This record gives sequence, C-alpha cells and structure tokens, in this order.
Amino acid sequence: MKLIRGEILHFLSDPGDSNGTQRASPAFRHHADGGLLVDAGRIVFCGDWPDALAAAADGTPVDDHRGKLLLPGFIDTHVHYPQSDVIASPGKDLLDWLDRYTFPAERRFADATVAAETAEFFCDELLRNGTTSALVFGTVHPQSVDAFFAVAQRRELRMVAGKVMMDRHCPAFLRDTAQSSYDDSRRLIERWHGVDRLRYAITPRFAITSSEAQLAAAGALARDFPTVALHSHVAESRAEVDWVRELYPLARSYLDVYDRFGLLRRPAVYAHCIHLDAQDRRRMADCGTAAAFSPTSNLFLGSGLLDLRLALEDGVNVGIATDVGGGTSFSMLRTLAAAYQVSQLNGYALPALRAFWLATLSGAIALGLDDCIGNFAEGKEADLIVLDPQATPLISRRMARAQTLEERLFVWMTLGDDRAVCATYINGHRRWHRDAGMPRVRPAGPRGASLRCD
Ligand SMILES: [Zn+2]
Repeated sequence: MKLIRGEILHFLSDPGDSNGTQRASPAFRHHADGGLLVDAGRIVFCGDWPDALAAAADGTPVDDHRGKLLLPGFIDTHVHYPQSDVIASPGKDLLDWLDRYTFPAERRFADATVAAETAEFFCDELLRNGTTSALVFGTVHPQSVDAFFAVAQRRELRMVAGKVMMDRHCPAFLRDTAQSSYDDSRRLIERWHGVDRLRYAITPRFAITSSEAQLAAAGALARDFPTVALHSHVAESRAEVDWVRELYPLARSYLDVYDRFGLLRRPAVYAHCIHLDAQDRRRMADCGTAAAFSPTSNLFLGSGLLDLRLALEDGVNVGIATDVGGGTSFSMLRTLAAAYQVSQLNGYALPALRAFWLATLSGAIALGLDDCIGNFAEGKEADLIVLDPQATPLISRRMARAQTLEERLFVWMTLGDDRAVCATYINGHRRWHRDAGMPRVRPAGPRGASLRCD
C-alpha cells in the first residue's frame, strides 16, 4: 500500500462550457489537500487527505507532493511510434510528407533491433511528458508491433497498438496483401490482445492505401474479435478526401467507406475527422466511434481546423492526440495549447477544465478503456502524473496571480510542456521523475525549498 498526497483533480464526466460545478452532480472532483491510497497498482481511495490517511493502515508510506497537482495520466489517442525520427520534417502537405519522410523511415522497422530501440525511446518520451497510455501505430511489419508490445509489457504500460495494413499506393517495400495483413494481424491479436495491460488495434493506414479486399479483411477481423480496437485516419486533408472519392465512388462520404466495411464501432478511433459533415458526425456518435483531435499535426501539415465544438455538440467522443510525427510535440500540454488555438479560429474558446477532461477521461472512453483508466474512481489502475506550478520562471510568476483552479489549468496548458511534469506513476509506482531523470535549473524563490518532488 502507498499514499500519494497533493492537490487532486480528476473528472467524472464532460465539464462542458461552464466550469462544471453548476450541475446536479459535478463533472469533476477537486481536493485542495488530497490523498490517493493505492494498493497492488489500483486506487483504493481518493479524497481529502485526512480521510485518505484514516483509510490507510498505520505506517503506510507517503509520497508527498504538496504544492503540486495530481492528475490521471494523459491519454494520447493517436500517435505513430515509428515516426519518432521524422518529427520536425517539413513537407508540402500530408501526401508529400508521407512519401518524402514517413515511408522511408518506416522501412527501417523491418529490423526488429531498430523497432525495439525506437520503442524504448518512445516510451521514455511518453512518460517524461506525462502520457501513461496511447493508441499507437506500428508499421506494416509485424515485428514492429512485437517490439513495441514487448517494451510496453516490461514497463507495465496500458497500451493499444497494431500493425499497419497497407496494400496499395505506397512503396513496394511497405506493401502487404489483404491476405497477409489478415494473417499477420490475427497472429498478433492472438499473441498480445488482453495480455497484461495490452490491447490490439486493427490498423488500416487509411482508405487510400487499402484495397477493398483489405478493408474487407479488416472488417472480418473486427467481426472475429469484437473487443479489439480499430484505428485509422479519416478526412485529414482536402487532397486526400478528393482521392478517396475517386477510389470509392459508391461511398456517400470518406467515413462511409469505413462504415461499409464494418469498421465503425466502439472502440474505434479515427484520427483528424476534419472534413466531415453532420451526417458523418451523427453516424460516429451512434456507433460510439471516436475522433482523435490532432491539432499540432493539422497545423503543421496545413490539413485544416477541426470544429471541436461541433463534434462535441453532435455527441462524438473526442480524444486529444499528438500524432507524432506529423504532430510537433509529444507533450499533451503543448497539444492542448494548439487545441485551444485551433478552436479559437473556429470561434470557440475551449475551457481549460474541458481540455483536461478531453486529455484524460474522454481519451479513456475513446479507447474503450474507461473501465480501468481515465480517472481516480476506486478500483481503477493508478496511472497518474504530478504537475508542477513552478515548472519555469514564467509559469511560476503567472501562477502566483491565478485565482481559480480553471485559471491555473489554463496556465499549464498554455505555457506548459514536459518541464511541467514532475513525476509519472504507472500502476502506483513512480516510473519517471523529472529531477532524477535529467539535470534541471530549479527556479529561485522563497518557496523554492518546498518545491522538491521527492
Ligand atoms: Zn496519424
């Protein structure tokens, strides 16, 4: 057993556009001096510190993070681990960027050693940024998924991943076939899905790089394995949408292509969803299919601006996604900053509480994992992070003037990055600690002595 003490925030539902407290049942819980009691990797109690102390046996060890915020770990709902090495590569647009950088980089993952080394780096980077779970693209090579899952399993991470299915409109060195992609995916599902904290996602790259036969194979896998996730891209750029219309002239829309092959359900996550219409959004909402909002990627590749408010109003599950390497940061805080900016360009000022709900519980719902992660409900797995209000001199100065919780959250999401994440816990164990992880200049100030993350 272990007690973790600090200010605590976690979500029970969407706080919406108000501050979430006006509802009959509040959308979140906030404990200014709170305690989490953790046993065997799970939350036993979450509440005010005196109550947490009373719930614990005498002599239970305490990790003391007073002065900092304990939050459920961030959930990145769409990211490509093999693209860790092409982040920050300038392309003209999505299709140009794939040809020039992504496909050559993904070729290297035929080598299991490259895959294993990159997976280790990728997981280090997630933990450093406070991301405790993710929905992850591998490459077309089954060994890329074996390598990723082996690393995630050893680190006890709750991860969802899959092998890319891609049998046309890509270089020959990355091409599988409808049959081989079915066989390889099936073998990977049988090897990894439901093992420890790992789950599999059937992963056709997108409609352009899959033949009808391959999408049918993906649909067959989905029918054979109803608890396996689906993961793909939809309606990211205009040029892509136009090409899909040529390839699938009978489909009503790009999303309808996937629908025709039985690829909309829960859990299913489609990255981007920028150029969809109201009928598409209603269909996603009805199916429980989620959109992964990837704002740094959408800005970087010039793909377009997701109308977040419209998606939420139409009942679509939305998660936040870094989409590295089209995305420009592993940090979910940087990504929330971009989500705010993209939403502003659509006339919507995303409230900070809602943003943090999107990055935690809403992501868990998108991935179909809200029974085990996403908040601090009793019995859930103790994946959490510690946010530092003194992370940089500027954040510290701005925080000193913040009056409310919502205001402080907004400072973190606007100014924060990996430096704001003081520690990351997996299954109740601290697996990353900023001060131990790398040297850091501690901000000077009268409260400096109390800032230590122990
Ligand atoms: Zn992507």
